[in-house]
Amino acid sequence: ATPTAVMVGTGVGASQGILIKGGQALENAHKVNCIVFDKTGTLTVGKPVVVNTKIFNNMLRHEFYELVAATEVNSEHPLAKAIVEYAKKFREGEDNPSWPEAQNFASITGQGLKAVVRDKEIIVGNESLMLDSNIAIPVEAEATLAEAEALAQTGILIAIDREVAGVVAISDPLKPGAKEVVSILKSMGVKSIMVTGDNWGTANSIAKETEIETVIAKAKPEHKAEKVKDLQAEGYFVAMVGDGINDSPALVAADVGMAIGAGTDIAIEAADIVLMKSNLEDVITAIDLSRKTFSRIR
Ligand code: ADP
Ligand code: MG
Repeated sequence: ATPTAVMVGTGVGASQGILIKGGQALENAHKVNCIVFDKTGTLTVGKPVVVNTKIFNNMLRHEFYELVAATEVNSEHPLAKAIVEYAKKFREGEDNPSWPEAQNFASITGQGLKAVVRDKEIIVGNESLMLDSNIAIPVEAEATLAEAEALAQTGILIAIDREVAGVVAISDPLKPGAKEVVSILKSMGVKSIMVTGDNWGTANSIAKETEIETVIAKAKPEHKAEKVKDLQAEGYFVAMVGDGINDSPALVAADVGMAIGAGTDIAIEAADIVLMKSNLEDVITAIDLSRKTFSRIR
């Protein structure tokens, strides 16, 4: 393509809310034959809501949620926001309730959070975080997690002073059109894969709904990048679509990194293309635009 054609292509992209960072990014997009999708905030709306709570000790809901919210209020994660939003329901009349102070706050990317609140050690996150922290998961908690997963919900474990005290089930619906995008990509000769830090049950449920055949769950950020590299080694020209800090290494590793506009700044910086409207259809538009720009000269 001529420099002018590339300029026109990026210009058309910009007018559609697709920010293409340079000619190379535009050119690479037409070679993509495999797309790795993140789940949360990418295939799903990313605005999850709490739909169920099980508390295993004798705590009252508002006490339980106060400790959890005090921890999660320090996190930018969509799941954290859902929990804090829900916890506000127990603090009626307060728009911005102040939560107890969290000390020694630590965020473990792709796993959850730790903090000390009111002298209690709070650990909030997935099974692997509990295992890494040497916290046993009781049978009743396992059962609640399994129920949530079967419904495509994410079950979050809450440990208080090293005992699993509760499970919060969170539902994050699919973005409208997600299934159609996967099917259109398939017709364009582009294979779709899902890689998520979430658990297998939820991941499989979402994969089934979108008809994505290849799924990798429980992936830490470095695993997402490794998967991209494995696919490249298999000969695929790979695009990664993601929104989170946890997707950044994979966005960089991919031949074309595409960030969801509503995503975190770090993901947007790591990407070659930014989908400003956060619509999945724009993945197709970006590839189409590149194909059109780069087929003219062939
Ligand atoms: P995804 O790859 O689907 O975007 P992440 O890698 O961000 O998901 O997170 C993976 C899992 O880690 C989540 O499903 C959740 O179980 C746990 N997790 C991550 N951050 C938090 C948090 N702030 N609070 C609770 N759980 C979290
Ligand atoms: Mg995500």
